[in-house]
Amino acid sequence: MALRQIVHLPEPVLRRKAKPVTTFDRDLQTLIDDMIETMREAPGVGLAAPQIDLPMQLAVVEYVEGEDEEENEDAPAKPKKLYVLINPEITRVSDEKVIGVEGCLSIPGLIGEVERHEAIQVKALNRHGSPVKLKVDGWMARIFQHEIDHLNGVLFTDKAIRVWKPYTEHGNKLRFCRMKFLTPSRKGAKEKPLNLCDFVTLR
Ligand SMILES: [Zn+2]
Repeated sequence: MALRQIVHLPEPVLRRKAKPVTTFDRDLQTLIDDMIETMREAPGVGLAAPQIDLPMQLAVVEYVEGEDEEENEDAPAKPKKLYVLINPEITRVSDEKVIGVEGCLSIPGLIGEVERHEAIQVKALNRHGSPVKLKVDGWMARIFQHEIDHLNGVLFTDKAIRVWKPYTEHGNKLRFCRMKFLTPSRKGAKEKPLNLCDFVTLR
């Protein structure tokens, strides 16, 4: 396995519609493993192939459900869920939408509030080319929508209500999976303030 280089805006590949994957060979398996390693190392909760300069309909997602909502350190660690999405298509969306704060490994130094469907259903192929149907909600649904947007050349800043430059103790290193966020429509979720400076309004 090897780390792949993540490209940033304004790299044109980030704005292209990615092509469907048709060959499920050993090279694809190596690429998927490299993407998982690159996502973990970044660290990020999702990575789409255009972000490593490959216009292919392929994304990986890994996230611990509820990680940011519970602060009980004695609770056993929740397993991370890893998804490989190939040629994904969103087949159903919830009427309910939620606003949350997102960042992107290809747009370092910015985060923004984006409205997303609270739950979605997705039709995709797994890493071996078999069809899968997935139902996800909450933050997993948000990450899926963010990554599937990447496969269509769409970035979170296109949809964001507001965009900020976050202040972090780690300089400009964006730590999306640790970012405090607002989930106004989820029961019991507390609104946590973001540490922000340099407020930027894009629209
Ligand atoms: Zn992204």
